[in-house]
Amino acid sequence: MLKIDNLHVSVAGKEILKGLSLELRPGQVHAVMGPNGAGKSTLGNVLAGREGYEVTAGSIEFDGRDLLALEPEERAAAGVFLAFQYPVEIPGVNNTYFLRAALNAQRKARGEPELDSMQFLKLVREKLAVLHLKDELLHRGVNEGFSGGEKKRNEIFQLALLEPKLAILDETDSGLDIDALKAVADGVNALRSPERAFLVITHYQRLLDYIRPDVVHVLADGRIAETGGPELALALEQHGYAWIRERVVPEA
Ligand code: ADP
Ligand code: MG
Ligand code: MG
Repeated sequence: MLKIDNLHVSVAGKEILKGLSLELRPGQVHAVMGPNGAGKSTLGNVLAGREGYEVTAGSIEFDGRDLLALEPEERAAAGVFLAFQYPVEIPGVNNTYFLRAALNAQRKARGEPELDSMQFLKLVREKLAVLHLKDELLHRGVNEGFSGGEKKRNEIFQLALLEPKLAILDETDSGLDIDALKAVADGVNALRSPERAFLVITHYQRLLDYIRPDVVHVLADGRIAETGGPELALALEQHGYAWIRERVVPEA
């Protein structure tokens, strides 16, 4: 589904990703771990097509297409979802309205008919039930005054509505409490399917206590330094990232 080959990316003239390769199959959950500043968020942002990231070498194939040739909206329509792709807070804009607009924009780009409010409401009810969520977040402004856990639930709800083929979750490096981690994990687990792949970017091993990834990658110094199973995350927790750094052969 996703094939990243020898990816080099610069941000503001500085090379951040230095030859990253990674392959993800449908149905799989891959975790990308790594120390602060390793380039984890850069990877997510490049996949989503955010501005400011210059790909200087390498390729990304998604579903047999050249992902780098697509605009961010085209990537979303093709089935790529990056959590955090929406503005943090939009006070005064009703969350339900916003979610319907996001879904309809995607449907339109795919040449599918837009959903009217009744159809959308029906879909919302279905997805709330799948995720065991209440509808309280829907009636508020977009992320307005949401706690960390509520933002995460809302994000997972967006994911459920948009039904991407590839969901990229960047958990950032700070401020996620245990409730937020569990909200992410429960959502991912509920939305796992043979057609969908997840790339879960996290600094924390403890998220992976709740989501059992098929594959764990460690990103260090702009490259995949190590790939393994869930046991790799546990080894990292025990030994720390310095352990990986010592094992990486420096570039000649
Ligand atoms: P991680 O998510 O692994 O902590 P990031 O991808 O956020 O790492 O950042 C990798 C490196 O790129 C860091 O050194 C960071 O300072 C730098 N960087 C990221 N985004 C920008 C930006 N917009 N401008 C300048 N430097 C950036
Ligand atoms: Mg960081
Ligand atoms: Mg980050």
